[in-house]
Amino acid sequence: MQFNGIDFETYFKNYPDKNGYFGKYGGSYISPELQTAMNEITEAYFTICKSRKFIAELRRIRKEFQGRPTPISHLERLSAKLGNVQLYAKREDLNHTGAHKLNHCMGEVLLAKYMGKKKVIAETGAGQHGVAMATAAAYFGMECDIYMGSVDIKKQAPNVARMKILGANVVEVTHGLQTLKEAVDSAFAAYAKEYKDAIYCIGSVVGPHPFPMMVRDFQHVVGEEAREQFIEMTGELPDAIVACVGGGSNAAGFFSGFLNDPVDIYGIEPLGRGTALGDHAASLQYGTEGVMHGFNSIMLKDENGDPAPVYSVASGLDYPSSGPEHAFLHELGRVKYDVVNDDETIDAFFELSRSEGIIPAIESAHAVAYGIKLAQRMGTGSVLINLSGRGDKDMDYIIEKYGIR
Ligand SMILES: *Cc1c(COP(=O)(O)O)cnc(C)c1O
Repeated sequence: MQFNGIDFETYFKNYPDKNGYFGKYGGSYISPELQTAMNEITEAYFTICKSRKFIAELRRIRKEFQGRPTPISHLERLSAKLGNVQLYAKREDLNHTGAHKLNHCMGEVLLAKYMGKKKVIAETGAGQHGVAMATAAAYFGMECDIYMGSVDIKKQAPNVARMKILGANVVEVTHGLQTLKEAVDSAFAAYAKEYKDAIYCIGSVVGPHPFPMMVRDFQHVVGEEAREQFIEMTGELPDAIVACVGGGSNAAGFFSGFLNDPVDIYGIEPLGRGTALGDHAASLQYGTEGVMHGFNSIMLKDENGDPAPVYSVASGLDYPSSGPEHAFLHELGRVKYDVVNDDETIDAFFELSRSEGIIPAIESAHAVAYGIKLAQRMGTGSVLINLSGRGDKDMDYIIEKYGIR
């Protein structure tokens, strides 16, 4: 399919280019030491990901350990309430550990094993990426250092406990604001020292090349399965698909199955409390071009041009930028990016729980909220929502802040 001069038939051969660019977005803006390490990962990835043994092992792990393929559920009661549009959900909440993140973590750590590494290093904010990494490290018998700010360690006690039970070493980061940004800096600094024995695993389609490409490729299984399952279930393609966008990994993998199809694609960012800077994390909607965390993309900046403070009710979505591929697909117009706010999200959280018996992660509830709005706007047709994770992790927070509705 041609779209704005881009041939989506050959898209994956051409994007990213060999320097990691999707159009003008992406690349690698890091120190020479880290660049040496990234070159090693890129080279290993291009060789190893083609090996039959690697592919067979990843396939077996997905089936026997993760429980893939995850199903698609027809949201019949919710659809009936809304009218004639049929809503469906791709159930990444049923992937082991309860979210899509394990898809790329298992791929990254399997790659590390093939590269002969002994340790994996990662940072985490809300703790979801840390838990997925700790799970993958336990599975492959690797050492695992998770960098986490003191403030986040206090806030996310259950996830800290999970990581420790899984055998990971949680490294407390005590400088600056003691949150995600400082954790990223500390993890990168540790990696620059330890890269001979360790690999740094980024938690989304962000960071320097090759991570935006590699994480998307490992998440491609979501879109690939979803396309095949949807056609088997209904005999046709969905009219529209929806996913939430933080860094953009669940969306990138899901969308990648449908880019070459006549399907409307929607990426949904968190509008939080409103449009003022600091009240949301809708980087593609309100941001401008800039470099942070080693890549060029669209980002929310403060008055000094540094990453701005961001907010969302979903801690997995409060990132001041989005992956470079999303910036590119946004510029092309192939994917439409839109927003929903906290209130719409919480309504959707209860709506899906009550109508379907599925408690979504608050992140995923953003996609559900938009799917509901889209259904009302479309009148007829079908919408497939990527349910990136389950909401067990969010229940205490929801009850405390919003009560039972
Ligand atoms: C982390 C997380 C997200 C956001 O990350 P992306 O890279 O944008 O996918 C979304 N949903 C769930 C359940 C998460 O844990």
